[in-house]
Amino acid sequence: METPTRMRPIQMVDLVAQYHRIKDEVDAAVIRVMESAAFINGPEVKELEKELGAYLGVKHAIGCANGTDALQIAMMALDLKPGDEVITASFTFVATVEVIGLLGLTPVFADVKPGTFNIDPEDIRRKITPKTKAIVPVHLFGQSADMEAIMAIAQEHGLYVIEDNCQAIGSDYTFGDGSKRKAGTIGHIGTTSFFPSKNLGCYGDGGALFTNDEELAKRIRRVCNHGSDVRYYHEVVGVNSRLDSIQAAILRIKLRQLDAYAEARNRAASAYDQAFRGIPGLSIPERSGSSSHVFHQYTLKVAQGRRDALKKHLEDSGIPAMIYYPVPCHLQNAYKSARFAEGSLPVTESITHEVLSLPMSTELDEQQLNHITSTVRSFFQTNK
Ligand SMILES: *Cc1c(COP(=O)(O)O)cnc(C)c1O
Repeated sequence: METPTRMRPIQMVDLVAQYHRIKDEVDAAVIRVMESAAFINGPEVKELEKELGAYLGVKHAIGCANGTDALQIAMMALDLKPGDEVITASFTFVATVEVIGLLGLTPVFADVKPGTFNIDPEDIRRKITPKTKAIVPVHLFGQSADMEAIMAIAQEHGLYVIEDNCQAIGSDYTFGDGSKRKAGTIGHIGTTSFFPSKNLGCYGDGGALFTNDEELAKRIRRVCNHGSDVRYYHEVVGVNSRLDSIQAAILRIKLRQLDAYAEARNRAASAYDQAFRGIPGLSIPERSGSSSHVFHQYTLKVAQGRRDALKKHLEDSGIPAMIYYPVPCHLQNAYKSARFAEGSLPVTESITHEVLSLPMSTELDEQQLNHITSTVRSFFQTNK
């Protein structure tokens, strides 16, 4: 397949084109912070926390340095102790599991659903032991895990729920009674990342935590701030994890675009869906019945061992494609254990051989989408 002439080069995410649409506003905001010299905990951070809380419909939004820290701070604020078991997915970015290990907690892996790639509540239930203290569902690729079922299990067993919402900020979860909540605001604590390529990304590192619980909000702020409420008096062991004011100023501008960004991603996803529906051996992303999708990733499943060949076919035509994630956490050298040997999480292990994520951003144009869809289709036409 030849690359059409005069097409903008295709990237997994196009952050430069996205910046150019808001450049004047962003440049002015960054200069404003520099002129104020309020670099740490300045008014921009406080305003962002208010606006983010209002957007999500959650009482407390608390900035921190990155999404990995947000998860660690959540576990520290909940006072999880070495030896406590935390149930999470193995099919996730390593950060989720890393902080569990770092705090001396024990990661316990539940399998995921083959269609949505999100943690399977029934398997969570099977993995609960007397040592279980918390569940960390990951809202993978842009849609929320089955929070109603997860909260019911947590309540039944007296467990905390920390939502890793680094990939699904803005998505709406609908409960059985028709009520809606934003992903990341349903568990005891929600966490997110503002890494540049995330749906709400800044221009460096950043993260945040969310909670409706006043007491937990206090504990989170304390942990973020060296375990201190009053300067130079330290109540608990904490960390230094702050969102900086320049990033907060940028995020305030991008937050106002977040719904439009989700729409743009959904338009690209619909174009992909339409082109790929019905191709044997290729599965388009399944939509959870209860969550809207904000398409952090558009992830196909390619059957019959042909995933890597399709990836190469795309790359030969100038189209990047990525495997998120090639090795699940329980099979990583750093996190291997006898309890979770190879074969212990069959769905997770099988999908790592099938998943392929296509370029997904707010900036994909029709020419680029046509090139991508026709290149995928040509692979299946010539490799029937
Ligand atoms: C990105 C991500 C993180 C970590 O966020 P950072 O800001 O890079 O530290 C954690 N969990 C998931 C699921 C992520 O996608």
